[in-house]
Amino acid sequence: MLSVEEARAYLLDRARSIGESERIPVEDALGRVASADVTAPIDVPGHANSAMDGYAVRAADIARDGETTLRVTQRIAAGGEIGSALAAGEAARIFTGAPVPEGADAIAIQEDCRRDGASVTVPGPLAPGTFVRPRGNDIRAGAVVLAAGARIRAQEMGVVASVGVDRVEVRRRPRVAIVSSGDELRRPGEPLGPGQIYNSNRFTLLGLLRRLGCEVVDLGLVADTFEATRDALLDGAARADVLITTGGVSVGEEDHVRRALEAIGTLDMWKVRVKPGKPIVYGRVGACDLLGLPGNPVSALVTFGLFVRPFILRRLGAASVFPPPVRVAARFAWPKPGGRREFARARLVAAEDGETGAEIHARQGSDVLSAAAWATGLVEIAEGTTVVPGDRVRYYSFAELLD
Ligand code: AMP
Ligand code: MG
Repeated sequence: MLSVEEARAYLLDRARSIGESERIPVEDALGRVASADVTAPIDVPGHANSAMDGYAVRAADIARDGETTLRVTQRIAAGGEIGSALAAGEAARIFTGAPVPEGADAIAIQEDCRRDGASVTVPGPLAPGTFVRPRGNDIRAGAVVLAAGARIRAQEMGVVASVGVDRVEVRRRPRVAIVSSGDELRRPGEPLGPGQIYNSNRFTLLGLLRRLGCEVVDLGLVADTFEATRDALLDGAARADVLITTGGVSVGEEDHVRRALEAIGTLDMWKVRVKPGKPIVYGRVGACDLLGLPGNPVSALVTFGLFVRPFILRRLGAASVFPPPVRVAARFAWPKPGGRREFARARLVAAEDGETGAEIHARQGSDVLSAAAWATGLVEIAEGTTVVPGDRVRYYSFAELLD
């Protein structure tokens, strides 16, 4: 059996890059992975400007102690005219974001000033640079504002826009086919027969894959026969970059994914020392990667975060594929050491001492999907260890692990 780290490293090793890119409008780029650097063609801001509403002055004109009265010779608003050079003894009425005129090197904020007709009285002292945002304060021309491999969030969209670039080159969306295996599964909206359950994995995976920017090909429910499973895998492999199955990967007689894969492709990995989720399959059918996840809904969710998401992100050329854990104080006890690495559904709680702790759900069965809806993330408990309240534990937020 592989450890979690070995299994992830093994998969990442096999994640071939999806070569094709496309140029898309910045507004459509949320969640996509940049495939080329974006370099700033301009300084931002392009002109020194005022950080406040007030008066642009020459700092040297302002008395160190006491007040100085200056002549207001111009008015400069954001988006209006660039002002003319400021001479000694002069001030310019100025507003936030407006260009600071030549000669001026400080802004006296309006709350501190007294205006009287054509003059203004400014209290000292006023250091050079006060409330002036110099040219290039945010970004210098030539700087890389979006690096290839970066996942584009809202702030990357804004930064790229701020340098005047309206299109970005991103890796094309991966096509991911999903197969739900199990004779007991029904679609929500249909009545349940005896012994049947609703297919929840399909919906969990749809959500997870959409967040990763994937184009999802849903191959629907597949019966627990060798032929049906084999045909579904062949169909998926022909249509997708990655095929994800849930269920049918254990060693039961009704578990056909592994055997079908052996018949039509290659089966590379199987069994990871992780709970939930032990049986995980990686293989290939032609050029398509197959990731076979366990059927239990929590196992499918957790193994997606631990293995599938990093794999897909690596195929997209993403620089970061797995989040670092944060350490929080356990607000629970874990008295029995386990033989496998355990990922417990947890949520963060603020303690009175101001420290952040994690509590875990009382029910950690891999069928208890409602506990995943309760949770904000997972606490990692190493093989062979116990936890008492107050111990430091590793916590992964779903916001990072599944985003
Ligand atoms: P399996 O891996 O096929 O042995 O399935 C393990 C458990 O997960 C069984 O209790 C299945 O009924 C359940 N299961 C499998 N697939 C799904 C699914 N798509 N949605 C909800 N539960 C499932
Ligand atoms: Mg099954």
